[in-house]
Amino acid sequence: MEPDFDVIVAGGGLTGTIAAQAISHYSNQNLRVLSIDRNPEHLPGRKSSPGWTCGDACSKEAVDFMTERIKIPWTRPEIEHDVKGVMAFSPDKETAIPFDGDGYMLNRQKLPEIQNARTKKMGVNFDFEINLTGLIYDGTQVTGVQGIDNKTKQPYKKTARIVVDATGITSMLRNQLENSTKIERKIDRRDVESTGRHIMYFEPGEKDLTEFDPDYCIIHLDQDIAPGGYGWVFPKAENKVNIGLGVEKSILEQRNKRLGKQDNVASLMEEYLQRNIAIKNAKLSQDSEDINNNTGVFQVSVRRQNDCLVSGGYMLVGDSAWMPKPIDAGGIGPALIAGTILGNNVTQAIEGNDVSESSLWQYNLDFIEEYGYKTAGLELFRRLVQTLTNEQISYGMKHFLGNLDVEAISKGEHPDFSGLGKIGMIIRGAMNKTVASGLKYTSGKNQWLVEHYNNYPKDPSGFDEWNKALHKTLDESYVKIASFAN
Ligand SMILES: Cc1cc2nc3c(=O)[nH]c(=O)nc-3n(C[C@H](O)[C@H](O)[C@H](O)COP(=O)(O)OP(=O)(O)OC[C@H]3O[C@@H](n4cnc5c(N)ncnc54)[C@H](O)[C@@H]3O)c2cc1C
Repeated sequence: MEPDFDVIVAGGGLTGTIAAQAISHYSNQNLRVLSIDRNPEHLPGRKSSPGWTCGDACSKEAVDFMTERIKIPWTRPEIEHDVKGVMAFSPDKETAIPFDGDGYMLNRQKLPEIQNARTKKMGVNFDFEINLTGLIYDGTQVTGVQGIDNKTKQPYKKTARIVVDATGITSMLRNQLENSTKIERKIDRRDVESTGRHIMYFEPGEKDLTEFDPDYCIIHLDQDIAPGGYGWVFPKAENKVNIGLGVEKSILEQRNKRLGKQDNVASLMEEYLQRNIAIKNAKLSQDSEDINNNTGVFQVSVRRQNDCLVSGGYMLVGDSAWMPKPIDAGGIGPALIAGTILGNNVTQAIEGNDVSESSLWQYNLDFIEEYGYKTAGLELFRRLVQTLTNEQISYGMKHFLGNLDVEAISKGEHPDFSGLGKIGMIIRGAMNKTVASGLKYTSGKNQWLVEHYNNYPKDPSGFDEWNKALHKTLDESYVKIASFAN
């Protein structure tokens, strides 16, 4: 039987709309595409009821990647403010590492309105207020989606050749996937950051560019302020800020024990705001383009992407594939890259009349080549940094990062710390020697992992062996990294 659509994009958030546009672009609008989202039409792509909770920062490079390929420009008002990069400060604030280069602060409430209008113009159909609960199968193939139409309270079913899952980190479609042993369904809690942020106007306090800089997104690494994560102060204007933090829950518990406190994300955010001497009398933005989005908490993954991104008739993209970068949780960049790439892979598969796992496999390879090759190494790096004390992070950032390492970090890659251990290098203190050993260890493992991802199997038949070797190395590394903890 002829399916209702060629492609269903489940989840009409940031990634879903990019994917839908890319499919439309690469197929010259020849494919019938349906975007399905649980939000009402006037609040498109909202993550949850508090809004589009995000730091709102993304690199120009990633936007250019999309624009050059699928000819979608992002301009104002979806871009709210230009920045020259991200600056990560050590806990003692004596060292700052710049990364990501020129970038944008987005308005996440405005962006999906504009994206949806564009996507519609590109011939994509929309169904709103549909709560998807699962997939439909025919043997080993996914052939559609099902759920509840919240407008009518009636069961909802739509069929398609391919279902693209862009329903975000909690994806119910992935959680219950039945046609793959390769795609991981569940995420380890330690790979999730609990985060919160406000969008605020403020009066200038003391001028302190380590606390607010209209030209740079500031990241504060500090295991007391944001245990296992970081705090951020991202400028949206001279007097407007996206301020928030992320923590790893078990590391927060350890920190609370250590300090005799009972903080949670909300109380940490309050403290983080109050301690900022550059920001005074901050108030939540009441602008119409922030009003549904000025404060919220949500979660974000910080691991490598799912080991496999496809099964028969099914593809994962964006947060549902755990694509945010493991060291900074930046998910917009990889979403732009993956969404764009996926459009080409979907079009080729459907035009070739084969939507099997084998036929969709090329998407794994293309994403890894462009971005995914580096994420497993960064996951280990993140795990190591999470084990360190503030003193160790400050010392390491000051003494162990050579120019090449900073360059690697600024490109989003794992530094190789080639200067570490060189003759003449004196490392003070046993705790700092441990940091040095840890960094040497993760950079060695990173080299192996990058090589391993470069050898990702060319078709599904080689996956099990490849994946076994990956997990053996990761499992050993997790144990070793834990041994560097204090
Ligand atoms: C606090 C915080 C700060 C962040 N800061 C940054 C940052 O500064 N820079 C950056 O690059 N990234 C950042 N990220 C990550 C970034 O926000 C995400 O990577 C990005 O929004 C992912 O988009 P997505 O479309 O994949 O998922 P989502 O944005 O989660 O969209 C999923 C969509 O699917 C819909 N949906 C979900 N389930 C169903 C269902 N069952 N049925 C129907 N529809 C459904 C949702 O309503 C939503 O519209 C941050 C994340 C958080 C939480």
